[in-house]
Amino acid sequence: NLSTKLQDTLKRLRGKGKLTEKDVDVALREVRLALLEADVNFKVVKDFVKTVKERCLGAEVLESLTPGQQVIKIVNDELTKLMGESVAKLNQSSAPPTVIMMVGLQGSGKTTSAAKLSNLLKKKQHSPLLVAADIYRPAAIKQLQVLGEQLEVPVYQMGQQDPVQTAKAALEQAKRNRNDYVIIDTAGRLHIDEELMAELTRIEKAVNPDEILLVVDAMTGQDAVNVAQSFKEKLGLSGVVLTKLDGDTRGGAALSVRAVTGCPVKFAGLGEKTDAFEPFYPERMASRILGMGDVLTLIEKAQSTFDEQKAKEMEKKLRTQQFTLDDFLDQLQQIKQMGPINQILEMMPGMGGMGKKLKGMSVDDKEFVKVEAIIHSMTKKERQDPGIINSNRRRRIAMGSGTKVQDVNNLLKQFAMMQKMMKQFGKMDKGKMKGKGKG
Ligand code: GDP
Ligand code: MG
Repeated sequence: NLSTKLQDTLKRLRGKGKLTEKDVDVALREVRLALLEADVNFKVVKDFVKTVKERCLGAEVLESLTPGQQVIKIVNDELTKLMGESVAKLNQSSAPPTVIMMVGLQGSGKTTSAAKLSNLLKKKQHSPLLVAADIYRPAAIKQLQVLGEQLEVPVYQMGQQDPVQTAKAALEQAKRNRNDYVIIDTAGRLHIDEELMAELTRIEKAVNPDEILLVVDAMTGQDAVNVAQSFKEKLGLSGVVLTKLDGDTRGGAALSVRAVTGCPVKFAGLGEKTDAFEPFYPERMASRILGMGDVLTLIEKAQSTFDEQKAKEMEKKLRTQQFTLDDFLDQLQQIKQMGPINQILEMMPGMGGMGKKLKGMSVDDKEFVKVEAIIHSMTKKERQDPGIINSNRRRRIAMGSGTKVQDVNNLLKQFAMMQKMMKQFGKMDKGKMKGKGKG
């Protein structure tokens, strides 16, 4: 894949003390191939390689003590630029509601992304209204309603009536109910057709959106970019949502779509769940492609998930060694909120490969569910003091949780190991604290 190819190429440069123009040429030829293979638009690749080469052959690189590192930095910089220097925010109307229209091919993720976006806005204390303007598939309205219900976001619909009227009426309702965002889910087709485009244009004229987001499936590579171009010709696109970045994407769409449409990628879809959605950070995406690990995303995720107060309590428990299976369960649940474990590992520097390996071993949310079930089947006393869990109790717990005794044994063994580690950690920590106190 693109990441490993770029990494390999750049690794070879890293060690070199001095770079010649030929070294740079060889490396860039490989970079170029890797990008083309990843289905990046050829024009984009050409410009990219040209810019990188010019910068690499600049005096400050070739004469630097660490030319290889410099080249990596340049590639990273230029990848970032390709995707847009900084985070692109949503446009906002000066007279609310802000109207957002989601467009794109069928299956690209419009309905899902509309719901995810409403969820994100709601978390920021906004009051979004979802609008079902895809009237061609009866299931589409239902799908949006189900998501809305789940997220407690209102959904406006008028059945199979003209989507233009629906959009207009929704806007009126939003004004009455003081919804500050209106997100319109529109119909898609498998291919672009005139009729669909005409309808989207009519909706655009009727509600004058502040934002038209083109939803693009990142797994489709070049095709996705061609689609983007045709939408751009007909509609006042203002941004892109790249979905399915959690899949085995080749990276092509993420790298080309901005250059081709001139529209910034504003959001990234990272999974099927409604919270697998975040602003698109070009810099992080670039370092993810270069395999530097997306430490920033990880930190931010942890921060938003872990309740600070809870973290403090946990820390105290760890130090005083009062950590019980209840706390363990609590922690598991917090980790679970952060997303699939593979995805978390993927974001840690040097752990990317590990995430893949684990995927092979199917260490996934199912494991969490199992562990949760086991702990739930224990009595309060057992959770506080796992030492009392003898073989009779183990059998009962396994039965109660629908697992095997072996599973219960494994969990208890892991927990015992964790406790032991924590004891050592606690001692170490105390030692450090003392040192600090003296100094
Ligand atoms: P629409 O036809 O454009 O409205 O597409 P949908 O919103 O119905 O999505 C089509 C399929 O893609 C659904 O099965 C979604 O669950 C899935 N999907 C959407 N976004 C993502 C994403 O970011 N990651 C993954 N893995 N699946 C997604
Ligand atoms: Mg849909």
